Amino acid sequence: MSVTPPTFASVTAARGRIAGVAHRTPVLTSRTADERSGATVFFKAENLQRVGAFKFRGGYNAIAALDDAARRRGVVAFSSGNHAQAIAYAARLQGAPAVIVMPSDAPASKLAATRGYGAEVVTYDRYTEDREAITGRLASERGLALIPPFDHPEVIAGQGTAAAELIEETGALDLVVTPLGGGGLLAGTALSAGALSPGAAVWGVEPEAGNDGQQSLARGEVVTIPVPKSIADGALTSALGRYTFPIIRERVAGIVTVSDAELVETMKFFASRMKIVVEPTGCLAAAAVMTGKIDVKGKRVGVILSGGNVDLPALARMIGD
Ligand SMILES: *Cc1c(COP(=O)(O)O)cnc(C)c1O
Repeated sequence: MSVTPPTFASVTAARGRIAGVAHRTPVLTSRTADERSGATVFFKAENLQRVGAFKFRGGYNAIAALDDAARRRGVVAFSSGNHAQAIAYAARLQGAPAVIVMPSDAPASKLAATRGYGAEVVTYDRYTEDREAITGRLASERGLALIPPFDHPEVIAGQGTAAAELIEETGALDLVVTPLGGGGLLAGTALSAGALSPGAAVWGVEPEAGNDGQQSLARGEVVTIPVPKSIADGALTSALGRYTFPIIRERVAGIVTVSDAELVETMKFFASRMKIVVEPTGCLAAAAVMTGKIDVKGKRVGVILSGGNVDLPALARMIGD
């Protein structure tokens, strides 16, 4: 793993690697969203990205950045969410074997989807086994490169490509707002905004139940919390990373939180008004902008919709009434 922190040059290199492979997702607007927020809002629709989330960008970039021999040996990742599918698919596209370590009680649909992308799935018991030990053993026994979900320079650089495309399309913005879990997306976005729209204030939004990022920014050091409970299942991290935190501390204007009820309202808005499916985690930034948690009145605001993966029965339960 590279030990040099990522810069905007890393984002530019990532754009070259993912060009023609990752979708250049559309930037959507809505008169209703503008009326409700009092701002001019540009939604970067990463729910329409390959595998349904921006994680494809960072995963593909990290694998493409390996040398040929390492890529042929393969990669390993642990995740039960969008990162698993991103690595599985990005590896297959590049002819790299992939092993994904997932909890044995992960939803059958997620295990099947990951296998469907051609990855070998190794399951573990989340109550008795240590996934990092299992992943580490696989990495050393088989010579696999570990690709973590956020705390990796090439993952951060890849995630930053979404905001780079967004700003290229909209021109300078006053604010750029993203969901926040471990901070790969927020850190990458901050690198791109800093270079392409230097006046833009970059904000992160996390679930109310797990505001470790907000606490970390306030204290000036990484704060670790118990794994939070929220419907925003892509942002249930307990701490920012050693690569993501310094970038966030240096470049991010602030972090706010939204409740699960606000996420559900926002999912309903996207489904009913904009005819798109955005998963709960994908709604974090939009919810903060639409509820006025961040002062956006009269401003030009970029909002990243980070993903759209939600089981249909769960979607129906959440937005069906
Ligand atoms: C992983 C994920 C996030 C959080 O990204 P980080 O880089 O961990 O902050 C947000 N939204 C979706 C849909 C995700 O899959």
